[in-house]
Amino acid sequence: MSPADFRDAGARVVDQVASYLARLETLPILPPIQPGDIRRQFPSGPPLAPEPIEQILDDYSRLIEPNITHWQHPGFMAYFASVASGPGILGEWLAAGLNSNVMFWRNAPASTEVEEVTVDWLRQLFGLPAVFDGMFTDTASVSSLLAVVAARHAVPGLDARDEGLAGRPELGRLRIYCSTETHSSVEKAAIVAGVGRAGVRRVPVDDDFRMRPELLAEAIREDRAAGWLPFCVVATIGTTSSTSIDPVPAIAAICREERLWLHVDAAYGGAAAVVPEMRPLFEGWELADSIVVNPHKWLFTPFDASLLLFRSPEVFRDAFSLVPEYLRVKREGEAHDYHEYGIQLGRRFRALKLWMLIRYFGADGLAARVREHCRMAQELSGWVDAEPGFERVAPTPFSTVCLRHVPAELAGREEDADAQQKIDALNEAILERVNRSGQIFLSHTRLRGRYTIRVTLGNPRQTMEHVHRCWTLLKEAASSASSG
Ligand code: PLP
Repeated sequence: MSPADFRDAGARVVDQVASYLARLETLPILPPIQPGDIRRQFPSGPPLAPEPIEQILDDYSRLIEPNITHWQHPGFMAYFASVASGPGILGEWLAAGLNSNVMFWRNAPASTEVEEVTVDWLRQLFGLPAVFDGMFTDTASVSSLLAVVAARHAVPGLDARDEGLAGRPELGRLRIYCSTETHSSVEKAAIVAGVGRAGVRRVPVDDDFRMRPELLAEAIREDRAAGWLPFCVVATIGTTSSTSIDPVPAIAAICREERLWLHVDAAYGGAAAVVPEMRPLFEGWELADSIVVNPHKWLFTPFDASLLLFRSPEVFRDAFSLVPEYLRVKREGEAHDYHEYGIQLGRRFRALKLWMLIRYFGADGLAARVREHCRMAQELSGWVDAEPGFERVAPTPFSTVCLRHVPAELAGREEDADAQQKIDALNEAILERVNRSGQIFLSHTRLRGRYTIRVTLGNPRQTMEHVHRCWTLLKEAASSASSG
């Protein structure tokens, strides 16, 4: 593609995305299609002859853009938000233009240093001490995997990196601790790191879904006595189902006493640390050995960007560094050769979009938006609490409200399995009805075994109008489901 053709097509792409963002709210969030509907409209094999870019972009407008689930839509309140802000999108485009592969400094000097700067800006925005270094990965799942492998590497005498784990009967079996509410990515990390799912011990939670530290301490003692080799605890600030916050200071004290690695999963909740008055929720995370926060969740960053912070970069480097001859470069100063700190050799230039959007919004602009999401979630929580026939199923520390409809005739029958099944089915029907509206998209979870509707905010385009619409639809759906 010649530069002139690229300029023309690029102008059309900019226009396409700008008008998509402007038209978003006219689109149904969930496209009314069935699996296979899109695929059937494409030829079964690749084209033999070149096709004009105009035709390709026409097909994009016709077949692809309208048929995605619109994560950018302000009515998208399902899962956790993942929203691409304007400056973030522009940063992503510029990074694609440069195609800088951020393996090591010589290959990517400015990109490496922008990553160093941006990681440190985020650290400061989160109010964390300068002892933390870090880097970007694609997802929290991968950040937590790297943390688990580093934690394993930090076990004295284990040397799983070079010796592996199999055929070493002298070793106890490795054990990771997390709560019953911890994200499944920790179990996946255990699978990949040779710990296995059996090596993950899930500690019970209290009534507010927070890990019970006294049961953690007991579990570690019991496991040591039975020959297990405890090595890592994962605490979560903002769990996936209810956004609960584990008691990190108490967990950190146990980790210090037991000499265990503490990894804090703040993939969603971490963004709220940009709001100075919310920092008390993060008490103790500065004691962690590693922390993950996903800017692609609640910091308006196009997917993907996960921030992994670590206290001892040398442990990560020791755990992962392998530099064959073809990658050997003369060390030039103090810059990071990022490929030595993780699994990937080639790495995307993710820092550019963050560098752009942090400058564009400023610390105050980011904080104002996150603060507003939490304020709107508090308003919605108040309406739920005040509405007969609805109940909130968990506290609302951040921007996610967990609720459920309980009709008067079924209220107070906690122990009655039949009644609970009816309530679950009603709430499933309510969710289905709201989602069919096309205006609001919600997701669900189970809390204490009960079907629970989750409403999560995190889109800078969201206003109280959207929250009102969500609440009206929920109430209408509840009354239709109860009467029908
Ligand atoms: N940790 C928590 C608390 C999450 O809520 C999620 C996803 O929602 C993850 C980890 C996994 O995130 P990712 O999709 O970036 O791997």
